[in-house]
Amino acid sequence: MSAEKHVNWFALEKACANPGCPVCGIVSERADRYIDNMLFEHVSDRGFRAKYREAGGFCPFHARHLDSFRDGLAVAILGADILADRLPNLSRKKNRPPKGECPACVETDRVEREFLGCIAETSDPEFIAFFTGSDGLCVPHYQKLLSVAKKVPTWLEKFQLESFESLLERAKRFIDFSAWGRQADFASLSEADKLVWKELATALRGSTGR
Ligand SMILES: [Zn+2]
Ligand SMILES: [Zn+2]
Repeated sequence: MSAEKHVNWFALEKACANPGCPVCGIVSERADRYIDNMLFEHVSDRGFRAKYREAGGFCPFHARHLDSFRDGLAVAILGADILADRLPNLSRKKNRPPKGECPACVETDRVEREFLGCIAETSDPEFIAFFTGSDGLCVPHYQKLLSVAKKVPTWLEKFQLESFESLLERAKRFIDFSAWGRQADFASLSEADKLVWKELATALRGSTGR
């Protein structure tokens, strides 16, 4: 196993111990780290500045914490670039949307491909054991895995489809038991089953903001 694979393995093992999709967990952490790193280390990096300007800054999802960021100077330098770039068009009443893609979204896509590729290539029983003990991939990440991986291993396909089927069953039961006159059935649901709609919403959306 290469050193990089080893690092990915440990990141996945850690993410699998947390609730929710492990790849969503890794991606959120890496995106935060990327933004942090760009603001602290690369604010004067011409290549990054050009990409940032072309994209019109981070997308709304990745820019959501900038106003509470600890380094106001970095946010000001990058923000001034964007506003100075946009102002001439605004004063000419021209709507010219930025052409580039949010650099944090580009990074997210790279991380997702790397980790999904890693999951799809693994047949190690230890890996399978901790992965199948997790909540599994969200729908968008499983869908992406289908396009990234050359071949989906049987264990993964079985695990994911069974998880989605069980989620669907539980959601249907929640809907049925929510009907008028079925209060007793509803009361018999476990706490997790009473909140299955939240699980369903997250499984369908993922939590990477893309
Ligand atoms: Zn996910
Ligand atoms: Zn973004």
